[in-house]
Amino acid sequence: MAEGHGRVPELVDVAVIGAGPAGSSTAAALAQAGRSVLVLERREFPRFHIGESMLPYTMANLERMKLLDKVNSQGYVTKRGAEFIFPEGGYRRIDFRDQGPGRHPSAVQVERSHFDNVLAEHAKDSGATVLTEANVTELLLDGDRVTGLRYELDGEQRIVHATYVVDAAGRSSKIAQAFRLRHTIERLRMVAVFRHFYGLDEKYNPGYEGDIQIGGHDDGWIWAIPIWRDVISVGAVMPLSVLRASSPEEVFAEHLARVPRISERLGGTTSNTAIRVETDYCYYSDTITGPGWFLVGDSACFFDPIFSGGVLLATTTGLAAAGRIDEILSHPERAEDLQREYANMYKTGYDTYARIIYAYYESKFNLGSYLKSLGGDVEGVPFVRMLSGDFWTAENRLAALLRANTSWDTFAPFERAYGCPVYPHLDADGG
Ligand SMILES: Cc1cc2nc3c(=O)[nH]c(=O)nc-3n(C[C@H](O)[C@H](O)[C@H](O)COP(=O)(O)OP(=O)(O)OC[C@H]3O[C@@H](n4cnc5c(N)ncnc54)[C@H](O)[C@@H]3O)c2cc1C
Repeated sequence: MAEGHGRVPELVDVAVIGAGPAGSSTAAALAQAGRSVLVLERREFPRFHIGESMLPYTMANLERMKLLDKVNSQGYVTKRGAEFIFPEGGYRRIDFRDQGPGRHPSAVQVERSHFDNVLAEHAKDSGATVLTEANVTELLLDGDRVTGLRYELDGEQRIVHATYVVDAAGRSSKIAQAFRLRHTIERLRMVAVFRHFYGLDEKYNPGYEGDIQIGGHDDGWIWAIPIWRDVISVGAVMPLSVLRASSPEEVFAEHLARVPRISERLGGTTSNTAIRVETDYCYYSDTITGPGWFLVGDSACFFDPIFSGGVLLATTTGLAAAGRIDEILSHPERAEDLQREYANMYKTGYDTYARIIYAYYESKFNLGSYLKSLGGDVEGVPFVRMLSGDFWTAENRLAALLRANTSWDTFAPFERAYGCPVYPHLDADGG
């Protein structure tokens, strides 16, 4: 993506901080709507990022962005299901076809540096100006309204004025930082250590080719995500206290050995990459929008990677924010209502996703027994749909039961905004 910068706009409808999935989807949708958009991304692309397994609902977002065919032509691994391995060794597979008709029956698993580059290129092809190695350093304010950004490009300080600023900077959100919006989620103080393995041959996979595996054990869980035909990402997630008692290399090897179905899949692979570590990635904010600004994707919240919801939530909120901003630019008098509506939609999605995570951890990685304890038929379609991305419907019976558990509330009381933004036409078909 690095290239000569040509003429850089100094006044745009929308300035976006960050070219991850949230920023690029916001930018592509707004540019497609005819708005002038400048995306400022501080890293050189392609760049490493964790978060490699998609949910099937993400495919519908890519379709809405007119990007699905391109994504499908990249040679990414098709993910048709998810295998959950229980601490005692048993396992259960979720097949995404069991969502029922009308929904994408599979997703992809990707090397994020490659996928994010495809998304950023798409934002550019849609008409947005995308600058890489452009580090946003400061918000421009007029009273309490954000009116633009100061950033550094090629060693020079620059300014862009914008009617709206979208903060898609993920964990490094400038707006969350400036307005001190962020809260830690104390019960999810997890850490992840991970690396890629090369020479993958799925003949060693005791389950289904292309599936994600999630293996629970007494001190955490392991993910196995094939990201290319012959490369697999493996990560060990655990409470911070467990890592502190050991080293990343030791704890990774020791936890991996506890999940034989995953170790078996790695037959013949090698890894010479250093182990990477991510900590403190669970947080939330009660304020999602403000005068002149929107937070999208990880910039406001992130809970836990266990159900691979991050990119779905990032693209869904990115597209939803883009739709509201486009409307506000035509009807500024509706700004307050549309921002409130967006914030409620944002929180509804993240809040529902958080609840299935809490259920998983509190049931000691055996969701099946937890679902049984709920009674009613929530194990079939409602469960598969939730694990595919159904975070916004009122109709999903499992989501409704999880929402009723007030001990899992995250945000200060808010008005839930029901209605699936991903498949609005299928919203009322039960499940
Ligand atoms: C251990 C772990 C495993 C995960 N696994 C999965 C998974 O399997 N599936 C999944 O869907 N999600 C997963 N996630 C979550 C996923 O990584 C994120 O939810 C997703 O990347 C969010 O997208 P985003 O666009 O909001 O933010 P990001 O992808 O983080 O993008 C933010 C961008 O903003 C840029 N930026 C930051 N600050 C500035 C600045 N000052 N100026 C300019 N640019 C800036 C950054 O360089 C970055 O490119 C995982 C997360 C963790 C921690």
